Amino acid sequence: MADYSPMMKQYFEVKEKYPNTLLFFRLGDFYEMFFNDAKIASRELELTLTGRDCGQEERAPMCGVPFHSAETYIARLVAKGYKVAICEQMEDPALAKGIVKRSVIRVITPGTVMESSMLDEAKNNYIASAYYQGDKVGICFADISTGELEATTLTAEKGESLSRAVIDALSRFTPREILINPEFTDLTDVAKFISDKLSASLECMDFAVYEPLHAEETVKAQFHPEVLERSDVLNFPEITAALSALLEYLSRTQITGLERMEEIRIYSQAKTMRLDLNTRRNLELLETMRSKERRGSLLWVLDKTKTAMGKRLIRTWLEQPLLSPAGITLRQNAVEELFENRPLLDDVTEALTGIFDLERIMTRVVYGSVNGKDLRALWSALTRLPQLKALSATFKATMLRDIDSRMDVLSDICELIDRAVVEEPPHTIREGGIIREGFNAELDEVKSDMTNGKQLIAELEAREREATGIPKLRVGYNRVFGYYLEVSNAFKDKTPEHYVRKQTLANGERYITQELKELENRILGAHDRSIALEGKLFEEVRRTIAGQLTRVQETAKAIAELDVLASFAAVSVRNDYTRPTITANGRLYLKDSRHPVVEALLTGSTPFVPNDLEMDPNQNRVSIITGPNMAGKSTYMRQVAVIVIMAQIGCFVPASAAEIGIVDGIYTRVGASDDLAAGQSTFMVEMAEVAEILKSATKDSLLILDEIGRGTSTFDGMSIARAVIEYVHDKKLCGAKTLFATHYHELTELEDLLPGVQNFSIAVKKRGDDITFLRRIVRGGADDSFGIEVAKLAGVPDKVVRRAKEVLKSLESGEMVKKPKNAVKVQQEEPIQLTMLTKDTEVLNRLKSLDVNTLTPIESMNILFELANML
Ligand code: ADP
Repeated sequence: MADYSPMMKQYFEVKEKYPNTLLFFRLGDFYEMFFNDAKIASRELELTLTGRDCGQEERAPMCGVPFHSAETYIARLVAKGYKVAICEQMEDPALAKGIVKRSVIRVITPGTVMESSMLDEAKNNYIASAYYQGDKVGICFADISTGELEATTLTAEKGESLSRAVIDALSRFTPREILINPEFTDLTDVAKFISDKLSASLECMDFAVYEPLHAEETVKAQFHPEVLERSDVLNFPEITAALSALLEYLSRTQITGLERMEEIRIYSQAKTMRLDLNTRRNLELLETMRSKERRGSLLWVLDKTKTAMGKRLIRTWLEQPLLSPAGITLRQNAVEELFENRPLLDDVTEALTGIFDLERIMTRVVYGSVNGKDLRALWSALTRLPQLKALSATFKATMLRDIDSRMDVLSDICELIDRAVVEEPPHTIREGGIIREGFNAELDEVKSDMTNGKQLIAELEAREREATGIPKLRVGYNRVFGYYLEVSNAFKDKTPEHYVRKQTLANGERYITQELKELENRILGAHDRSIALEGKLFEEVRRTIAGQLTRVQETAKAIAELDVLASFAAVSVRNDYTRPTITANGRLYLKDSRHPVVEALLTGSTPFVPNDLEMDPNQNRVSIITGPNMAGKSTYMRQVAVIVIMAQIGCFVPASAAEIGIVDGIYTRVGASDDLAAGQSTFMVEMAEVAEILKSATKDSLLILDEIGRGTSTFDGMSIARAVIEYVHDKKLCGAKTLFATHYHELTELEDLLPGVQNFSIAVKKRGDDITFLRRIVRGGADDSFGIEVAKLAGVPDKVVRRAKEVLKSLESGEMVKKPKNAVKVQQEEPIQLTMLTKDTEVLNRLKSLDVNTLTPIESMNILFELANML
């Protein structure tokens, strides 16, 4: 160490405090990285790796980026999950004695980004902090860029693991960065989920930050007592601990501006619909499964919001459908009012257009990184508020009235910005020219000194000439003496007492006066002073606005809600949606329902074929759906799930009539999963998912099960499928409403055996070898899979199609049903009883056909005898 150059020593001192972080070390006009950081950065950013003398024999590996374009490089690194520490020069190198002072002013991490260039305006960017202790996890999610902060305590529920609850919560917020306590790593399932599915970076925090007293103090220091009381956060020790770690981490990385987070919302996971990550992905709520695009997702259809705040909120709503009929009805009433009144909807939509992101601008205001352009953007957003407020004043629905009451036109802030900041401000405050004329008398004077300097000198010259009677007296300027009064020798006797001689020339004398020197100071210092004063005034304006954070935030939230409700209304009008009736009786009824996304993607000649659905907790809670591939089974099932979600977020739905009994969770098992890469077989993944579903689902849940058991041999698969249906059908075990698509036609006989099961199929028309899909769902099982016809339709060569038919024929006639040769017998410890298609069925059928109330005792005895004989 001793041999390193002084600058390198300084570098090491700083670097030591920021392990696992790329250190951007400011050297003049560049940020430089050294050693391993340099290697990483040069690889990730494709920068040339150079070297620098560091006092050692070997040069230190180095690479750098120009400071003015650093932001894009930082953005790329952070997007890849790296943390970047910005180390600035803290003094002017020209004035520094010895080595320039440097220190880290901020650490930018994936979860603590504030720069708009590094954020997606339509998405929240969350950092999570989780604290695991005993049988609970306290967890909080914060979006630094908007000031949102939500927290909850998670416990194991209903035979499910605690890990499951944590995974559900993480799936909902998808944080970019997660802080955990050391014990948390014991939740191995969660750790695996985070690394496999979330691609979030994990940071294990010290024991000390979770220490109860310390945690309480940290939380108390952050929030206003009123907020502490309202949220009751201190009575949730696990949340307090998690929050403490979060605050500690933020203050370590942000250094300033933590006051942006002034509110905390304690939420209950039990108040929103359960949707696990698989289901969110399968139903393509936010993006499509394959290409991860927004186009083709439910969000893409529903999001017609006009503001960034609305864009983030509609996502949040979509991620957490409500369970309370009252809450849903509130939203529906608001949507209906806008839906019914088209001119009002159009006006609201127009008024919302062009309102900038108040929340993120306020973040920059509070953190002090706001510039004149941001304030002007804020001003322009605020100028639109009166128009919006005039409209909201006419609202009637409860939720809309509430939005109106929370929306403040913020005219004081609007007026302040307009008075203080010029219309086209420069990018930085350092250049000056940001504060408007007339805002501050002192600044105006300073500025007029600058511009009027020459004029003032001329006036002084004229005044002095007249006072002294020296006609040729003139004011001059040179670098050494500054401004002076010059009098030729002929008049030097006439100079008044208070003239101070400065310089004697061959043909005259140069003087200064008190007044002239003052004027000089004013003129020469004016530029510097005006810049300093502008900085000070801008800072005052910034502080004043920052002081109004709560009001702006409240207004921003109200605008976001209005934006989402208006978007729901607009989409419902445009796509001809209907308001669903919301009940708590568990019944689902849809008339002429459509899949909102498939419908939107279908073009031109092929219209979407609407279908009905009727399910209730008793008669028909399990629908077994058969029909050829490509018939539309999975579209139909997803459509039902998506409509339930739309209804429970308060939107109207694509149907001509709808009744939705609140669903507490939707669970799906469809198609191939993306877990294959993780080294598990398709079948294992499928079964693991089925296991989770069966553990989690309740009688109020909706299950979408597509071809369960497909991944193994026919008999195995069929047995599993049947056992699953029997399980979900059983009210004591599960009783969830279930849509079950299958190719096992044998399963359709369950309709006769289980009272809550009904068969459906998707109609096809067959002519010769060709089939046409009618897309209509009809009662009853399909009589054929038409696999070969579909294969033909898909272009499989005729020869193969013909041969497949031959094979099918011989299979159906029983010729080929034989055990494979040399089959290895698996040892079995206990005999497994297969209940499929056995005599039990006949007994059951016989029993079902009886009307016990009308039987005589003798008849009963006879029948019992007969039944016993059947077995
Ligand atoms: P399956 O699950 O039976 O194999 P899908 O649900 O995947 O079939 O449907 C296949 C295709 O048929 C879909 O991509 C969609 O374009 C079309 N489709 C499905 N249902 C309908 C419908 N009701 N109206 C019009 N087209 C439909």
